[in-house]
Amino acid sequence: RLLNTSKGKAMQVRRAQADRVRYKLLWKNLLEKADGLDLIEGMVEEILTSCGHVIGVRLREGLKLAAKAVVLATGTFLNGRVLLGSFTYPAGRSGEPPSIALAASLRKLDLKMDRLNTGTTPRVNRHSIDTSGLKRQDTSQTPLALSFWSKPAVLTNDYPVYVTHTNEETHQIIRENLSLTPNYNGLLLGEGPRHCPSLESKIVKFPDRTSHKVFLEPEGRETAEVYLQGIYTAFPPKIQERIVHSIAGLEQAQIERYGYDIEYDYVDPTQLRPSLEVDGIDGLFLAGQINGTTGYEEAAGQGILAGINAARSIKGEKPLVLSRGQAFIGVMVDDLVTKGITEPYRMLPSRAEYRITLREG
Ligand SMILES: Cc1cc2nc3c(=O)[nH]c(=O)nc-3n(C[C@H](O)[C@H](O)[C@H](O)COP(=O)(O)OP(=O)(O)OC[C@H]3O[C@@H](n4cnc5c(N)ncnc54)[C@H](O)[C@@H]3O)c2cc1C
Repeated sequence: RLLNTSKGKAMQVRRAQADRVRYKLLWKNLLEKADGLDLIEGMVEEILTSCGHVIGVRLREGLKLAAKAVVLATGTFLNGRVLLGSFTYPAGRSGEPPSIALAASLRKLDLKMDRLNTGTTPRVNRHSIDTSGLKRQDTSQTPLALSFWSKPAVLTNDYPVYVTHTNEETHQIIRENLSLTPNYNGLLLGEGPRHCPSLESKIVKFPDRTSHKVFLEPEGRETAEVYLQGIYTAFPPKIQERIVHSIAGLEQAQIERYGYDIEYDYVDPTQLRPSLEVDGIDGLFLAGQINGTTGYEEAAGQGILAGINAARSIKGEKPLVLSRGQAFIGVMVDDLVTKGITEPYRMLPSRAEYRITLREG
């Protein structure tokens, strides 16, 4: 879809709803077939360096992989801790182990690190939602594409998004139980994302709002899970059920996975060069949430830049550095490496002083 169509061209952006399972498989398949690439899955525990240059990584099983350049993109896994009500456990994401040894290895390299947090929403079973009274958001009937390489097309519309809203009852449940969520019971450390706040903090910070939008986003064709965009919450399961069931269309919704908060280490990005290489450790590049950002576009933008520059460093070529006037990636990287962050960073158009010319439309 094209978003913000009621606003001017500079504010309009495309959004794609991707099938999470198929997307992952597609990429695995592409990488497995790529020429000159060996794919090895394993838990990295240590970054190996010599004389200020990276020389490889050590996997949990002891295997050492030699490398002239390494790109680290560990997301929320470094010393990750999941929080749900008063319950906490070490995890990189729900059900996946955290990276404890790797975080210690980065500290040994004298990298300055700190904590951030982010939340996720409950997922409900599509078959338990009553969409009859909800507003339906369809795929654009104007042909669109995300890339200049793709031919604009109208996509099939088998899995639309539906829109519903929180209400006074939802807000009342939240207000009465605030002491039960890690967002307000003192358990959660670090700063959270201001632009994707938890539902509980929206209720506290904007007490005059009687309702907040909730987008019911299908996760894919092979799963019935629906993501409740807008309800980032870490209340105990019983309270999450009451919150979800108070919302129109979700009265009978069956929660397949509960929302939770996750707290993790990030590396202070002011220690990076504009190429995303760590200053003082040649050949070590960092990209994505490890640098204090949050979001797909932010991670992808840094990933491509770090990858290009890792390859260039091996070939002895000058790094690719994008300026603030050339690309949103240039704005983001310049902000990260010169100003650092105090909360999870999102690449908002308002951060770009050249947004009139950087716009996509
Ligand atoms: C449930 C959820 C929903 C989200 N929804 C949105 C959204 O709608 N829009 C949006 O823009 N953003 C969203 N985000 C945020 C977005 O997913 C992240 O900011 C982004 O994916 C970060 O990308 P990344 O590459 O830095 O890390 P990730 O995508 O988290 O990938 C990190 C990878 O590193 C691997 N790893 C970690 N440690 C090690 C190690 N020691 N050895 C080997 N591998 C390791 C992990 O297994 C993982 O595969 C969401 C996040 C979550 C959790």
